[in-house]
Amino acid sequence: MKIHEYQAKELFKQYNIAVPFSVLCESSENIENCINIIKTPCVIKAQVHSGARGKAGGVKLAKDYASAVEIAKNILGMELKSSQAGVKKVNKILIEQAVDIDKEIYLSLTFDRTNECIDLIASPEGGMDIEEIAKTNPEKIYTECIKEDFNPQKTIEKLGFGENITSQICAIVNSLYKLAIEKDASLVEINPLVITKQGRVIAIDAKINFDDNALFRHEDILALKDETEENPLELEAQKDGLNYIKLDGTIGCMVNGAGLAMATMDIIKLAGKDAANFLDVGGGASSEKIEKAFKLLISDKNLEAVFINIFGGILRCDFLAEGVKNAIQTLNVTCPVIVRMEGTNKEKGAEILNNSGLKFTVVKDLNEAIEVIKKI
Ligand code: GDP
Ligand code: MG
Repeated sequence: MKIHEYQAKELFKQYNIAVPFSVLCESSENIENCINIIKTPCVIKAQVHSGARGKAGGVKLAKDYASAVEIAKNILGMELKSSQAGVKKVNKILIEQAVDIDKEIYLSLTFDRTNECIDLIASPEGGMDIEEIAKTNPEKIYTECIKEDFNPQKTIEKLGFGENITSQICAIVNSLYKLAIEKDASLVEINPLVITKQGRVIAIDAKINFDDNALFRHEDILALKDETEENPLELEAQKDGLNYIKLDGTIGCMVNGAGLAMATMDIIKLAGKDAANFLDVGGGASSEKIEKAFKLLISDKNLEAVFINIFGGILRCDFLAEGVKNAIQTLNVTCPVIVRMEGTNKEKGAEILNNSGLKFTVVKDLNEAIEVIKKI
């Protein structure tokens, strides 16, 4: 799960990481008020779940009151088109006291699955061009795989700052590490962490992603979820207890079990097509749940066909057939529907589909499914 910069900065404050003074503004009537509180110079920042806002015109420095009002009015409500997240409507802006920047640093902690640790990544060349630095000067990015008895001193010394700045950065790394562990974050990133002209180290950007599978034990974090930032189909699926992830292909697939779902996506690829989604209806799905899942699938505008691949263990094939039949009848589905069922009551399931008067292609195995999908 992602959160906004202003929410991440609230968490930073709880962990004693310094951030500039700021207020959140959600309506244009409130802009003048907010700027009066913060004063100028200030920075106006679009609050959307995306990085690279600066390059997309979503972060701007305002020197005086009049330009601050004008910039804020332009950013609030704009459609921000970033290289990282496509187009996003800006519903909130953060108005923040400007900082006198001497140097921008990059700092993050992230999962390293290969080495089974959390990586500390730091660079003295932080800021909006960090991706470019990673390509052209990778030696300026320092990575440490964090093991037990972690002390960031050695890595942070490599950034080449004096003792005072180094110790301030080390304290921030330790706080970030505590935050990441306590809140089950999968990424915490400060880019840039800045050294001010007065020699203070302050986080002027903040990004935190959380491990979805650990959210059940963090009510406070879950409360930060902004549903307007989520994919509407994925949100609906979550409410119905379905594991659905929207993808870019054209073959919708409905499967039970994550492993079988992955294998089904491979099969679609083998047939020369791409999956339109990942959808795992789970082991004990009822025919009502199947119907809901099907509705979700076909609301995808790119769909060429639906491939249903079910292993009937706990989920019985006749329940599945009933749910799919009802969905197709009520939703007026016109695209081809290919069904492969194996397991409990598969004959009964096939009978329901074949006698429904609707057009299904019931295939006997996966090889036949590939042949049918190839022809779409
Ligand atoms: P991002 O582009 O989405 O990562 O947004 P950031 O919050 O990182 O802001 C982008 C850039 O704006 C930073 O790298 C800074 O160069 C600049 N910026 C942000 N806040 C300030 C500030 O208070 N003072 C100054 N001078 N520049 C700032
Ligand atoms: Mg940034």
